[in-house]
Amino acid sequence: MLLVCRAVDEDAVRERIHARVPTPHGTTMCRIGDQLLVHVPGDQLALADEMHESGLLLRAVTDHSGAPLTDREAVPPGSIVELGGSATVGGVDFALIAGPCAVESYEQLSASAAMARAGGAVALRGGAYKPRSSPYSFQGLGDQGLRIMAEVRAETGLPVVTEVVDAATVELVAEHADVLQIGTRNAQNFSLLKAVGQAGRPVLLKRGFGCTVGEWLQAAEYVLAAGNPDVVLCERGIRSFEPATRFTLDLSAVAVVKHLSHLPVIVDPSHGTGHRHLVKPLALAAAAVGADGLLVDIHPEPATALCDGDQALDRDRWFDLATALRDVLASLGRDLTLREPESAGQAR
Ligand code: PEP
Ligand code: MN
Repeated sequence: MLLVCRAVDEDAVRERIHARVPTPHGTTMCRIGDQLLVHVPGDQLALADEMHESGLLLRAVTDHSGAPLTDREAVPPGSIVELGGSATVGGVDFALIAGPCAVESYEQLSASAAMARAGGAVALRGGAYKPRSSPYSFQGLGDQGLRIMAEVRAETGLPVVTEVVDAATVELVAEHADVLQIGTRNAQNFSLLKAVGQAGRPVLLKRGFGCTVGEWLQAAEYVLAAGNPDVVLCERGIRSFEPATRFTLDLSAVAVVKHLSHLPVIVDPSHGTGHRHLVKPLALAAAAVGADGLLVDIHPEPATALCDGDQALDRDRWFDLATALRDVLASLGRDLTLREPESAGQAR
């Protein structure tokens, strides 16, 4: 059962729960804005009545989903996640996050950041630690990549999103980056999910390419159960029998998750398709299906990219996408917080 309380009453609520719920196992708490969400195992009707009478309970919700903290009913209007600076995901905002797959050098990231910003992105992406299928592929610059990201962040003011691949480096990555990305291959690494739940940074949680929507939401539940409400979900394609695209971008999952959960959902049409000519159509479709934003691979010189160059957009394609997106979102009556692409006119 989920008990929705006021965050200001946290101490009194904790006291009451500890007195009433004999085994704390399965009891989780997460503060979202001015509300404190408390999940207690089973239906604790007596406890709910008692808390209601003492004015500690705003409402109680029966847990049907097994992921009560991420359930839509916990925050019916939907939650808004702050990425850093003034960038947010969720609500009326449509957030564009763009950058290279991997940080390759200061020059490459700095040029990518300028491109990202000019196209209207609110945050910069880039991998320093790259989980590659082959040990012979570029593995990322590691700590050096983090330092480059922090430098570009300081120069541009763009919050940076980067992947953290193991619990041992969570603290280091959290020192340098604004948002911790959990990649598809780590989507069910539960010790890592618990660690990012305690890192004090927003988390961008990719869907595991072999995960059902339910398993994806359970993964998010781990992060919230560790006390971190700031989770952005990212659909990035699932494994299917179809080889024409790198993965099968499951846009129906966006609509499903928007229905089931209060967490914002963005889409990665780059990793989802693997081909730059497919990024624009799938990005526009993602906006149309109700996504809260996009994570897009861009590169100043895709032909030289050390990682995933085939799916990276060059400047012209990126500006073309940003312009087309504005039209699609406007036609849906969505409020745009997307910045005007600076040279959209030239790009057209
Ligand atoms: C990425 O975004 O750089 C990445 C590796 O994505 P995924 O985990 O979805 O493959
Ligand atoms: Mn990649």
